[in-house]
Amino acid sequence: MTLEEFKGILRKYNFRVTGQRILVFETLKENENSHLKIEKIYQKAYKKDNNIGIATIYRTLDLFLSLGIVQKTSIEGTYYYELMSNKMDHYHHHLICKNCKKIIEVDSDLLKSVEEKVKEKYDFIVENHELIFYGLCKKCRERNE
Ligand SMILES: [Zn+2]
Ligand SMILES: [Zn+2]
Repeated sequence: MTLEEFKGILRKYNFRVTGQRILVFETLKENENSHLKIEKIYQKAYKKDNNIGIATIYRTLDLFLSLGIVQKTSIEGTYYYELMSNKMDHYHHHLICKNCKKIIEVDSDLLKSVEEKVKEKYDFIVENHELIFYGLCKKCRERNE
């Protein structure tokens, strides 16, 4: 998602494009491939502008969540945020290594056949889903051998 696309989403839903919203967006954009806790996002945003407070970060992330700008994932009770990826049309999934806590992205296409089966069996249209797989990554398995 580019800055222009981001501004377009805000305008489309009648939210003002403010400096603080841009700041939070840019912070997420610079860390596009990581999953950040609120505190981390706050620290990084604060480095750019020390007028920003953590309450603003919370409010802004809630807004971004409701507009589909960010994806929020709960891992063992902690929430992680990341910018919604443009290559995936809805939420992607995560593999979490129990040992090194590494987070690996999984393409949502893997679940297409499951969604089709749900439709068939329960006559239910899936619009979204959240799924986390816990296990051990290759590195950690090799270390244990
Ligand atoms: Zn690992
Ligand atoms: Zn992710």
